[in-house]
Amino acid sequence: MKQEFIKALPILKKLEAAGYEAYFVGGAVRDQYLSRPVNDVDIATSATPAEVKVIFRKTIDVGIEHGTVVVLFEDNHYEVTTFRSESEYVDFRHPSKVSFIRNLREDMARRDFTINALAMDSDGKIYDYFSGQADLENRCIRAVNDPIERFNEDALRMLRAIRFEGQLGFDIEEATKAAIASCVDNIRHVSQERITTEIEKILVSSCTEKALEAIVATKLHLYLAGLTGLSSVSFGDTVSLAERWSVLLLHLEAEPVSFLQEWRCSNELTRTVQSIMRTVGAVEGFGWSDHRLFEAGITTAKSAEKVMLARGTSVGSYPVDKAFQALPIKEASALAVSGRDLIKWSAIAAGPWIGEALTLAIQAILARQLENEKEQIKAWLIQNKLIQVK
Ligand code: ATP
Ligand code: MG
Repeated sequence: MKQEFIKALPILKKLEAAGYEAYFVGGAVRDQYLSRPVNDVDIATSATPAEVKVIFRKTIDVGIEHGTVVVLFEDNHYEVTTFRSESEYVDFRHPSKVSFIRNLREDMARRDFTINALAMDSDGKIYDYFSGQADLENRCIRAVNDPIERFNEDALRMLRAIRFEGQLGFDIEEATKAAIASCVDNIRHVSQERITTEIEKILVSSCTEKALEAIVATKLHLYLAGLTGLSSVSFGDTVSLAERWSVLLLHLEAEPVSFLQEWRCSNELTRTVQSIMRTVGAVEGFGWSDHRLFEAGITTAKSAEKVMLARGTSVGSYPVDKAFQALPIKEASALAVSGRDLIKWSAIAAGPWIGEALTLAIQAILARQLENEKEQIKAWLIQNKLIQVK
């Protein structure tokens, strides 16, 4: 049993001591089997939420109506969910009725894929009602029971199947894949936020190209905002989410701000993608220069270079790191004079001329025509009539 489970073992033991059944379930059991890092350890139990809350001192209500209570235990928190079955899904996403049950097998039957329908008890014994271990061995993503029914219940599962394909490098089993292809238009009923979460997990996964190919093969892309032009994309050595989005948006020839807003991405991510794409556009057009490196900053410059290598548009021989280290000034805040100095020296009132003068000074420093030294910059500004001294 992995350390993460051993840490959470007292929770199972306490539930058992109180007369309930309790198991580790879902992704953590799957990831242990695959010797992958185990993320959150989820627990399923026959105890109802109210019964769970009686047993543990520190709990948080997160989704009582779905049977989930978070138990805080030794600096960790665990989702403890009552065995449940779901019935009569409405609008392809919400079960109209969640019934708490006292039986593990039925709880496993409501889960999406056989590889996620595994449970482990406090002795480390695995409960596998749907041949999940065989599918893990065969590297196969298969819906639990009838795939068409399962995708009609919850359309997000289609994208989850493809996300697991990206993360695990597995193949989606034929009937499950065919069911996705026949149910794709149900994805319209899923919120953009839930779609974005899955696509972003796909973008940072180890088999992104494979997963995007599955999206195209199943025609799911025709129902995802702005992705109709998707075809095969190569991500090279890009790693971060912003780099991955940049490769994808350049491939789609999409305008990043409106696209990422529609996808409900954060403003910070949008800004990062925008600066990477702006740098790529400039360098693809005119090549690297000290000025461009300075404008981009080292982080964006390195990302842009990786994005261009993935796109096959980089010459690959420009030493971004070395060239940046050699810049005579690396960021605007490092300029030896400030706007305040200019106001102090000048006979005319503050105005847009200050920013312009500072920019010109930076350009002269980058061009090695001027040193980044206060008195020299002042003299240069006067000489070039960029300030009128008192
Ligand atoms: P990871 O946390 O690594 O992204 P996971 O398999 O743990 O993967 P979660 O979204 O954390 O995925 O869900 C935990 C478990 O809940 C899953 O393993 C699966 O058994 C079940 N599950 C999650 N979402 C669904 C769904 N839409 N339909 C059916 N079962 C689901
Ligand atoms: Mg999980």
